Amino acid sequence: MPYRSPVTDYTFLLSHVVGYDRVSGTEKYAEAGADMVSAILTEAGRMCDEVMAPLQRGGDLNPARLENGALRSSPGFAEGWKAIAEGGWIGMSGSPEHGGMGLPMAVTTAVNDMMSGACLSLQLAPLMSQGQIEALEHHASDAIKELYLPKLISGEWSGTMNLTEPQAGSDVGALSSKAEPNGDGTYAVTGQKIFISWGDNDFCDNVCHLVLARLPDGVPGTKGISLFLVPRNLPDENGNAGVANSLKVVSLEHKMGLHGSPTCVMQYDGATGWLVGEEHGGMAAMFTMMNNARLGVGGQGVGVAEAAWQHAMAYAMERKQGKSASGTIADHADVRRMLTSMKADVFAARAILAACAVAIDMGNATGSAEWKARAAFLTPIAKAFGTDTGIAVSEAGVQVHGGMGFIEETGAAQFYRDVRVTAIYEGTNGIQAMDLVARKMMDGGEAAAKLLDEIEDHAERARGRLPELAGPVWEATETLREATEWMVAQGEMNDRFAGAVPFLRAFARVLGGHFHLIAALSDPGGAREKLARFYINALLPEHAGLLEQARNGAADLYAVSLEELSA
Ligand SMILES: Cc1cc2nc3c(=O)[nH]c(=O)nc-3n(C[C@H](O)[C@H](O)[C@H](O)COP(=O)(O)OP(=O)(O)OC[C@H]3O[C@@H](n4cnc5c(N)ncnc54)[C@H](O)[C@@H]3O)c2cc1C
Repeated sequence: MPYRSPVTDYTFLLSHVVGYDRVSGTEKYAEAGADMVSAILTEAGRMCDEVMAPLQRGGDLNPARLENGALRSSPGFAEGWKAIAEGGWIGMSGSPEHGGMGLPMAVTTAVNDMMSGACLSLQLAPLMSQGQIEALEHHASDAIKELYLPKLISGEWSGTMNLTEPQAGSDVGALSSKAEPNGDGTYAVTGQKIFISWGDNDFCDNVCHLVLARLPDGVPGTKGISLFLVPRNLPDENGNAGVANSLKVVSLEHKMGLHGSPTCVMQYDGATGWLVGEEHGGMAAMFTMMNNARLGVGGQGVGVAEAAWQHAMAYAMERKQGKSASGTIADHADVRRMLTSMKADVFAARAILAACAVAIDMGNATGSAEWKARAAFLTPIAKAFGTDTGIAVSEAGVQVHGGMGFIEETGAAQFYRDVRVTAIYEGTNGIQAMDLVARKMMDGGEAAAKLLDEIEDHAERARGRLPELAGPVWEATETLREATEWMVAQGEMNDRFAGAVPFLRAFARVLGGHFHLIAALSDPGGAREKLARFYINALLPEHAGLLEQARNGAADLYAVSLEELSA
């Protein structure tokens, strides 16, 4: 069944649910009004449906490969990249000064979500470039910006991010790659990086790597790390890709899914690089890229969830089995439960994602500390809940297909295999949850409290029109507020960390209830109200059990010793 980009859903979400009009009401984004956004999404949707979606299966069956050190991408991916680049979809939020469209992140996020649903393994390539573009815009010298940004934005060159090493995964501070000053303003970068997405390709003139490494006087840990831009080919005097740099792709990983995206082991042997940002300030610069990518990866989860749901829906409406009103499995209560839960959760996760993007845009446009805190707070939720939803929905998609879900030809399994990694890369979802209950609550829970106030105020106002939906949302928010206060009060961080994952999920559940309630109010008696009713009655109650888990602390966990656990 062909993929259809959710253009109408996005237009509705932006106009009626997450308050995009506040973004287009700012001076910075005044040109990106509702009509323009709708036209952009329609155009992007056409490219996703017609160009990218047909590549998805081929990427799975014909993975990228290494031939005598040269990378060969999956069939059609080069043309796919060309279409993405020519449409301007790489540099959507890039600065117009360097050829970008300067569009809000809310619009870029919508397009990234749609591209992910169409072909996740190819979409990861422009996503990496987008993160690099933002990092360079914020932290690179003017000379680097002038040379690299136009080429990255146009898609002539591509970008990657190189953090991970065998001994330095979640603990980036353990990295051992080194950088030595060459004495001419450049640095010699040496080390091995693993798991580098799109570490090379055969469709760009150059591949630009952002590499974390330590200078000779860099202290151990994250504080001693610096960031370097290390191109595959050194720019010549005209700024074109010139001679090869001292780096190579050593091998490609054999993965569970996402086969079209080459995951590379990279070797840097004194490769020439340029410092980005301050010496030893690499993590700050890299965080710009990582935050961009975290939102993007959340969008990958949502995009694949959408595609898996569409696929399952089409199958369920054709497959005849047993007695039901229509004769198809779609009318059996358990299948209906799966399909409706999938759709309701796609909406919830997408709304959280879009709300996070709106907060980022408002922070950028107004400089408001409150919007920035809101964006920072929502980012780990958007990443973790978006990707968990991608996994849960695609897993349910396999189940809806019955035995055929386990057979590769139907394509249901590919969604699940492809999306599984999104909960792992860009900071595992466990690390996202820890970030939420630790760093994002260093303000004493202020950002969380403001968000909860808003949700309660809205539910209070909605009581007059939809009391049976507004009431449970209000009550769930109160329970969440108590749990949030409990979290903030825990001085022993392991007590917070032990319950971080259920806490994040409960927060997402309540946010989902809030956004469903807004959607219901704009569609009285219609499909959106009915979906909201299902979400609030059947899915929102999960928050209560999750919050019990969240407040259990670490004592019970550690009471079982590792010896007892492994016996
Ligand atoms: C397909 C793919 C593409 C990737 N692309 C890139 C890329 O482009 N660039 C790049 O730099 N990296 C990339 N990565 C690497 C990815 O970001 C890491 O795999 C990820 O950060 C986890 O690190 P790790 O694999 O070493 O797992 P580990 O850090 O060993 O984690 C193992 C488990 O322990 C948990 N854990 C670890 N530390 C803690 C802690 N302090 N507290 C609680 N739990 C903890 C984790 O949550 C996880 O469940 C990619 C990985 C894959 C699989």
